[in-house]
Amino acid sequence: MPGDVTSVWATASARLQQVLNEDTFERWIAGIRPLSLQGGVCRLGVSNDMFSDWLATNYQSVIQEAVSLAAGGPAKVVFESGHEPADLPASQAALSPATGPRPAADERDEASSRFNRHYSFDNFVIGENNKFAHAACSAVAKNPGKAYNPLFIYGGTGLGKTHLLQSVAQDVLSRRKRARIEYLTSEEFFNRFIDGLRDKSLPKFRQIFRNVDVLLIDDVHFFTGKEQLQEEFFHTFNALYNAHKQIIITSDRPPHEIKGLEKRLVSRFEWGLATEVQSPDLETRVAILRRKQADQSVKIDDDILFFIAGYIKSNIRRLEGALIRLISHVSLTQTPVTRELAEKLLQPMLDEEASGAVSIERIQKVVAEYYDVRVADMTSKARPANIAFPRQVAMYLARRLTDCSSPVIGEQFRRNHATVLHAVTSVAARLEKEAEFRQAVAILERKIRN
Ligand code: ADP
Ligand code: MG
Repeated sequence: MPGDVTSVWATASARLQQVLNEDTFERWIAGIRPLSLQGGVCRLGVSNDMFSDWLATNYQSVIQEAVSLAAGGPAKVVFESGHEPADLPASQAALSPATGPRPAADERDEASSRFNRHYSFDNFVIGENNKFAHAACSAVAKNPGKAYNPLFIYGGTGLGKTHLLQSVAQDVLSRRKRARIEYLTSEEFFNRFIDGLRDKSLPKFRQIFRNVDVLLIDDVHFFTGKEQLQEEFFHTFNALYNAHKQIIITSDRPPHEIKGLEKRLVSRFEWGLATEVQSPDLETRVAILRRKQADQSVKIDDDILFFIAGYIKSNIRRLEGALIRLISHVSLTQTPVTRELAEKLLQPMLDEEASGAVSIERIQKVVAEYYDVRVADMTSKARPANIAFPRQVAMYLARRLTDCSSPVIGEQFRRNHATVLHAVTSVAARLEKEAEFRQAVAILERKIRN
């Protein structure tokens, strides 16, 4: 096996450049320094543990394959931290987005173009499912750093978290044109951090993120298990928090349920307000469809909107997708959509939705498990409080998560519909008052859906 590690690595890395996308290559591979190739082991040097861990977890096999091919025989790759990164060609360094010059203040008038202008408070339909989250965002936008800090918004996919986050950003900018706002996903934050490590531009990275007025980090669950990143974010958080700057974070679950998130971050995320966006009820779904079609020249009949909203319940993005599908059909064919046609056009989406549909039996099972009672107790005539309460919660969830009417739900619990209505109102009243109970119900909802 040829032992010249420099030339083997040059061949291997040329091959990697072809198979990996450009960003990945620049970020992770370009800075690798070949160290030695001996006895079938190729040592590759990187600057720190963050790189070696990430490469070993994500790119070990593809790098190993490239090195083996280049070396003409099987090679095992090991990453070693503590080495100077390989020099980047000057042209690349100049092009690297993280090291590029920060726009001057006047250029930041362009800032608003970074946001999706449709994601505004004006376009956001408020329903029972999101009214708390919406109120919190709107309060924060009026008074960044003062109302709730940090604000933590969590909930399932396609329920409006990103929409709310960008609404805050645009609302703040509309009041204060020069406000410094950074909006990015936690993955982008990670990438910028990595670029900072690689290019030795961490001071600049820190200077940017520790001096904003509002920091918006979307989908923070990506921080899971990335210790050094969490460490960095911890300091960013503290700097901003101490300077009374606003931090808003979104995630698919509440802070304490994010696995692999350091305790000190969990507790900081809980310092302010954590609020959930839930799935919308039928009324809200129809309102959203009406709102979305208000901007369109094509109009779809209301009964078709009800039809869509009746089927697509769990994800607003999908709901929107269905509407767009019908609208484009109408504008292409110039024929109105009938119920039959809508059914045909939307079949794939309806199937997808149906596979995630929730049954009353499932609700009974999950609630029974959660409160440690028997599933049979859900339908039994027994009335002790320890059973009656979970049963009420299950009825409430059946009303919320399925489109079954109260008589139908009653049948499945062997109760009449008045009992179901009573359960729904008393659970709803308790939810208004008790934050802890709200959390429990939110956890149940997620368990039911998964
Ligand atoms: P998430 O970030 O929670 O996955 P998004 O914010 O990307 O969800 O929302 C998905 C889509 O649904 C977006 O197009 C958004 O505009 C729309 N949407 C979500 N909630 C609402 C709402 N309450 N009113 C209007 N549109 C909404
Ligand atoms: Mg999102």
